[in-house]
Amino acid sequence: MSDFCCSNCFNPKRDRFHAFIRKHGFISDETCPYCKSAGGIKIDTAKLGTFIKEGIDRAYDDTREENETSLSVFEILNDRVILFEWENHREHDLTEKLFEGICDVDKKTYRLKLESEGDDEEQYRIWRNFEHDCKYFNRFFDLTPRGTGKANRRTDMLQKLYESCLKNLKEEIEPGTELFRARVIDSKLKRGRDYNLDEVSIGPADKNNSQSGRMNPEGISYFYVAEDEATALKEGRLRANERVLIGRFKTLKKLTVIDWTKANIYEKAVDIFSPKYSPQMAVYQDFLRRFAIEVGKPNETAKPIEYVATQLVAEYVRGYGFDGIKYDSAVGNGFDVVFFYGPEMMPESGDYNVLPEYTDIAQLTDVREFKIKIEYFLEP
Ligand SMILES: [Zn+2]
Repeated sequence: MSDFCCSNCFNPKRDRFHAFIRKHGFISDETCPYCKSAGGIKIDTAKLGTFIKEGIDRAYDDTREENETSLSVFEILNDRVILFEWENHREHDLTEKLFEGICDVDKKTYRLKLESEGDDEEQYRIWRNFEHDCKYFNRFFDLTPRGTGKANRRTDMLQKLYESCLKNLKEEIEPGTELFRARVIDSKLKRGRDYNLDEVSIGPADKNNSQSGRMNPEGISYFYVAEDEATALKEGRLRANERVLIGRFKTLKKLTVIDWTKANIYEKAVDIFSPKYSPQMAVYQDFLRRFAIEVGKPNETAKPIEYVATQLVAEYVRGYGFDGIKYDSAVGNGFDVVFFYGPEMMPESGDYNVLPEYTDIAQLTDVREFKIKIEYFLEP
């Protein structure tokens, strides 16, 4: 077998890995013995194998003993790093060649490195554990005396997450920024009697009508808006013939949010081929990513309990004085923002803690009503 493979053998998304091939590879017309293509940049397998081994050693310890929960080099590269191009069906032969004289690629002796306590499994389950605890074990962590169960791990974990990543995602939304909000009108409702083209009808729901959402529990109404009309409409999951109100708002002051759309800046920290790889950051990055997936799930199919974990993270962020969270819309092209501001309050609410009113931060500049003519959104 020849002593080279090529760039086309590998997942094109592994940027740093491909940068290494570009730097140390060579051009030739020969067909790659592994992926059978001719156009890729060729590279010596021993040289590339040494580089890959360095990456594995950055993230995994070789325990020298075969263990059921441990991984082999091939499993790490194939299942965890997703290193190979999916059409490369000779990935196992290639791994053996790359690690020739280095190690047996099927021996399960590697464990993920940890900076904190806990086992390998926990690294991958941290969001799931968090979500489970929020739903079924201990929802209100700030009322829990320290030291019971594993509940306080959530507080510690959120604190570390905040210090290591979230505070770096701070972003300011300038005054005068236009944002949009859509509301589907129930067919039984009548304009003039049940709703109007006004702030009450398009603003956040009052506390008696507030349903739980991705970021807010029932009874606590937040102000959800989208970057543009199309995104706002898609968030509403509208169907043909439904009527909708669409409101255009302008922000009145500088607003500070956590910008979750920037969370991918930590991708480097989880790339085992990057010198910046950090075991701790790998855990946080996973948490950030799962939060983003959760907030993007459709509203209508979820039971209220599905939102508990994301609601808790939102309330935690609110506790630091942020005005809201900005996140990628799962259905539209734009972003969404949830502002921790509620509806206008009745005068007698002065005796209680209330959310600040959304009219403090945004002004309705236009509201229109129309009927959806086409079915443009397909359910996932
Ligand atoms: Zn190849």
